[in-house]
Amino acid sequence: MLKRLIITFIGIGLLFAGVFTFLNQRDAQAIASNSDKLQVVTTNSILEDMVQQVGGKNVDVYSIVKRGVDPHEYDPQPTDIAKTTHADVIFHNGLNLETGGNGWFKKLIETANKTNGKEVFAASETVKPLYLTTNKNEKDPHAWLDLTNGIKYVQTMTKVLQQKDPKHQAAYAKNSAAYIAKLQKLHDTAKSKFLDIPENQRLLVTSEGAFKYFSSAYQITPAYIWEINTEAQGTPEQMKAVLATVHQYEPAHLFVEASVSPKSMNQVAAETGLKIYSKVFTDSLAKKGQAGDTYYDMMQWNLTHIHDGLATGA
Ligand SMILES: [Zn+2]
Repeated sequence: MLKRLIITFIGIGLLFAGVFTFLNQRDAQAIASNSDKLQVVTTNSILEDMVQQVGGKNVDVYSIVKRGVDPHEYDPQPTDIAKTTHADVIFHNGLNLETGGNGWFKKLIETANKTNGKEVFAASETVKPLYLTTNKNEKDPHAWLDLTNGIKYVQTMTKVLQQKDPKHQAAYAKNSAAYIAKLQKLHDTAKSKFLDIPENQRLLVTSEGAFKYFSSAYQITPAYIWEINTEAQGTPEQMKAVLATVHQYEPAHLFVEASVSPKSMNQVAAETGLKIYSKVFTDSLAKKGQAGDTYYDMMQWNLTHIHDGLATGA
């Protein structure tokens, strides 16, 4: 009996050892996969896609914040820490996107022992920042929603990839030039896209005030319930203010971001009698395989849906 028990215990022990060995091997493989490629970590899916477009087959890209998840506040998981520790390059947005709120990114790069300017780069490095209206000292992070800023992100990333991986400099230059030309073309068609809509209808109402850069590039007036995701969301004061703004204009529709709860916008819809036209993409791409799963597609989606939503019902 005792002998059988001992054998059973040894059996269970071996089984556990086997499971742990398997997990460790799998983790190690996940972290060190294709080690001949440049290992790049980005804080969110928009930056992930931009790096992938420029890096192509020469890079492995890992996004810390997953698609559909808000990047303003986040708790890095063990895999995120391991990936960041092993990364050759880490791109974050900057402009207080990942260092506002709980400041998760600063803590992560300290834990991973990485340094700004050495392995860590802000994609927004060359962008002229806009500031929050509620806190004039704080930068608004959503610069990528203006395609000309997106192009600046791509240029910064290209420069860093070329420095870190000079062997593939020419490939990065070629991919980057083609990608920038595509983004520039989309921007050029967007510049006057909204001018066929009367000015008092050109009010873009979203939950978060993420469209400052977009609005100034494409001649729209932005309105929001709360200005940035790190603050309280949908307070009575915020609701009162957004309703007052909506009443000053004549927007045909409201919009809601794909990575934000629709609760507060549903309330604005109920109070104003306006319908929500569609989702828009701000801080995250759609899941792979769905509409809006690349930066180009998310911008095209936003431009088309915002235009059509504001133009219809006029
Ligand atoms: Zn945001």
